[in-house]
Amino acid sequence: MYQLDSYQLIGNYLAIGWTDDHESLLSLSRLRDECPCANCQGEPDLFGRLHRPEQAHDKIDRSYELVDVQSVGRYGVQLIWGDGHSTGIYSFDFLREMCDCDQCQMKKVTGA
Ligand SMILES: [Zn+2]
Ligand SMILES: [Zn+2]
Repeated sequence: MYQLDSYQLIGNYLAIGWTDDHESLLSLSRLRDECPCANCQGEPDLFGRLHRPEQAHDKIDRSYELVDVQSVGRYGVQLIWGDGHSTGIYSFDFLREMCDCDQCQMKKVTGA
């Protein structure tokens, strides 16, 4: 299981340092668009009701501004966005999975 060591906001990117000395650079727009919360992904809630995913045109510029990062135990982080959206819990594994550096891409291809 991956553990986040540190993070830093660099322009429109969130730079994440991992405890295994790896670094990921994730674009904020991609993080927001891939927000794992039920509202964004349209997954059924506890009662089996399907939420309609937010449409792209519902988003405003501030939707892609990262206001705050709050840790959620040793499991992940909660990202707070400029439009007040904050229900997405990004697990460390999820964030690491989003890393598209050469090293991680190679791992996905070879399965190593
Ligand atoms: Zn969301
Ligand atoms: Zn990587």
